[in-house]
Amino acid sequence: VIDFAALAAEDRCDPLASQRDEFLLPAGVVYLDGNSLGPLTRRAAERVGAVMLEQWGESLIRSWNEHGWIELPRRAGAKIARLIGAAPDEVVVADSTSANLFKVAAAALRARPDRRVIVSEAGNFPTDLYTLEGLLDLLGPGYELRRVEREQLGSALTSEVAALCLTHVDFRTGARHDLAGLTAAAHKVGALAIWDLAHSAGALPVELGAADADLAVGCGYKYLNGGPGAPAFVFAARRLQEELRCPLQGWLGHAAPFEFAGHYRPAPGIDRFQNGTPPILALAALDAALEVWDGLEMTVVRAKSMALTSRFVALVETECAGLGLCLASPRNPAGRGSQVSFAHPEAYAVMQALIARGVIGDFRAPDLLRFGFAPLYVGFEDVGRAVAALREVLATEEWRQEQWQRRATVT
Ligand SMILES: *Cc1c(COP(=O)(O)O)cnc(C)c1O
Repeated sequence: VIDFAALAAEDRCDPLASQRDEFLLPAGVVYLDGNSLGPLTRRAAERVGAVMLEQWGESLIRSWNEHGWIELPRRAGAKIARLIGAAPDEVVVADSTSANLFKVAAAALRARPDRRVIVSEAGNFPTDLYTLEGLLDLLGPGYELRRVEREQLGSALTSEVAALCLTHVDFRTGARHDLAGLTAAAHKVGALAIWDLAHSAGALPVELGAADADLAVGCGYKYLNGGPGAPAFVFAARRLQEELRCPLQGWLGHAAPFEFAGHYRPAPGIDRFQNGTPPILALAALDAALEVWDGLEMTVVRAKSMALTSRFVALVETECAGLGLCLASPRNPAGRGSQVSFAHPEAYAVMQALIARGVIGDFRAPDLLRFGFAPLYVGFEDVGRAVAALREVLATEEWRQEQWQRRATVT
């Protein structure tokens, strides 16, 4: 049995409990999918309304100066910098994670002109692999994406390697890489380290500066709650910025966009990773959502995240014992991000039935039930409710109903 009184007591002692009021979550929903799409914040709803009506509506084009739209990519970037252990002038918001990965991987190859190999993990997030493939194909014969298993990463790093490109926290299992250790291993062979922080920024402390990381990209709409398709971010270590060249040479990455010069001259610093005109409404939503983090310490967020995921694993394993689930995430909370996955042969239908009960997680092919625990709005009672619903769905075999078997386009 699930001790809901004990879980409620834990919620009362939670130093982050009041953060939930920042979010406009529908009543009755346990939201365990903030690792895929963070929920709407009050601040974003208010800000986007104001930016539309008061800024766009009233000030029109004057807003670029009067309301500082032109600086917004840097202002939002500086807020993210604090969450990932970077300096404010090392992060800028621009484009999508996929586009940013293309930009930083190309910049890394250019910074190592005598090397033609990028090493990544075979199980990396597909967009990362596709993007690297596309870049290396474009560059032509001799360029190679070397996909290796997790355990072989160390031995794959040779003097031919220009860059090691990894996702810090695995999207399927939540397993986390040793960012500092692998960065040091890449540096040892003269390669650059590129990190995808899609499942890390806002989920756990990241210390890019302390790890001496070179380049990173990350997502605005997962744990940072920037909204569907929110712009993403780029990090480039200050010590490298002046030597890096971004291959997408849009005018907003130019040193003087309003000189309208005929030739490209990269902007100093991180601004060279900007490209075209930023989507101000989307950027305003992200910037407003980032205010939620003001004054919060990632160590406190991490402590609650580990407690939530550990409680979930323990409760699932007792309450759902014998019901066909197998833990697919590292058992040690230190080894995972802020998500937990369980394998089940009918994971898709199980997740659909669970969602119908108001517990929203997601399915990841081929057989994973994935649950994200965003500590700013998920509590311990939510964990109990999620496990109780999961037990019901499995014990009654509710998932066998035909309506839960039909695959939607987005899973
Ligand atoms: C979600 C995610 C992305 C998203 O890329 P988009 O360009 O925003 O679609 C990239 N990488 C990883 C590891 C992700 O989890």
